[in-house]
Amino acid sequence: MNSHITDLCRFLDSSPVNFFAAESVRQRLEQHGFARLDMRDSWSLKPGDRRYVTVNGTAIFAFVAGTGSPAAGFHIIAAHSDSPGFRIKPSCEMPGDGSSVRLNTEVYGGPILYTWFDRPLSLAGRVMLRSSDPLHPRSRLVRIDRPLLVIPHLAIHFNRAVNEGNKLSKQKDMLPVLAIDSECRKGIVRDIVAEALDEAPGDIIDYDLSLYTTAKAATVGLNDEMVCSGRLDDLSMVHAGLSALLEKADSDSACTRVLAVFDNEETGSGTKQGAASPVLEHILRRVTACLGGSDEDYMRAVAASFMVSADNAHGFHPNYPEKYDPTNHPALGHGPCIKVNANCKYMTDADSAAVFAQLCERAGVPCQYFVNHSDVAGGSTLGNILTSKIPLRGVDMGAPLWAMHSVCETGSCADHNYTIAAFAEFFGL
Ligand code: ZN
Repeated sequence: MNSHITDLCRFLDSSPVNFFAAESVRQRLEQHGFARLDMRDSWSLKPGDRRYVTVNGTAIFAFVAGTGSPAAGFHIIAAHSDSPGFRIKPSCEMPGDGSSVRLNTEVYGGPILYTWFDRPLSLAGRVMLRSSDPLHPRSRLVRIDRPLLVIPHLAIHFNRAVNEGNKLSKQKDMLPVLAIDSECRKGIVRDIVAEALDEAPGDIIDYDLSLYTTAKAATVGLNDEMVCSGRLDDLSMVHAGLSALLEKADSDSACTRVLAVFDNEETGSGTKQGAASPVLEHILRRVTACLGGSDEDYMRAVAASFMVSADNAHGFHPNYPEKYDPTNHPALGHGPCIKVNANCKYMTDADSAAVFAQLCERAGVPCQYFVNHSDVAGGSTLGNILTSKIPLRGVDMGAPLWAMHSVCETGSCADHNYTIAAFAEFFGL
């Protein structure tokens, strides 16, 4: 297997939920000489410095300070750390007949619900612990590293019409079972987490825990040409952006190169760590100022910048040709897709599309276009949300996937390599 694909699979497996995705990025940055900055501290920067900052433990922004003037601009790749799934509700333990214990969950974003049935699942996320300072509880990541839960589907014998379409209730049908012969008592999940972290259960005040599939990322196909995994949207683009940044960090660039990984894209980006917040603007302003630039230099830098908003596209599915645009069929394995929308759901225009097409050409990789079938509403992404905050020139793109928002999505190994090559071309400018 190609080394980028081996590394992608390792990255996906180490990133079961958003907190771990940001942590996986952080560890790789540290290994490559990037040092942490804190939003609360005063920053001092010089050209060539490698730095990163995290927000909420789920968004992470890395940059290599440019060696040119502070007005030279930013080359930005943006992607997101979150994926659709299920979040554990407070007071989550639910009794059921037969001594079963289920967990009460809430759907996060837009998962394809029935892909979550009948497979080993577990829990991962962040736990907040008692501290001496009430404003700053201690925080630890937790991943229960064994199959712990299952969402069993109803047997076909109770619903013979199940294969003719089956409406699902998020509250009734999707509850994971934790145990079948246990007393249902409050605090079981807290105790599981406490044991995993070797902390006193009474010190656990709250948590952000989500379900994840324990299935590992895998290549499939006659020639291992596809990759199947949860969270390819958008961790494959995070991995591609990170790989390109680390590959090019040693080379000088007049521009400041930025990898911006936001959280909460799947729910509309409206959090402090999401793309609709001013967080990226704050960081870019501070970088300009710390490199000796004025407010005018910041405006000039924004005008001279380019952003690649990297979020996966829908690959042409051979079973459903009618769902796709009649003339644009972005096929898996045929390169990253430039995403275009007449109503500006994507930031792409002919100018920014031409930039990305030329980057691909210079990198020697193919690229293709994704446009919605005109009768099918598409999704939204990061680009236009970010440009409403910062008037950046840029393109929306992404490698094509099948089954976006399934618990196991499918992409192409070649497309991942192509995307990294195009991104490296961009960060090499
Ligand atoms: Zn996405």
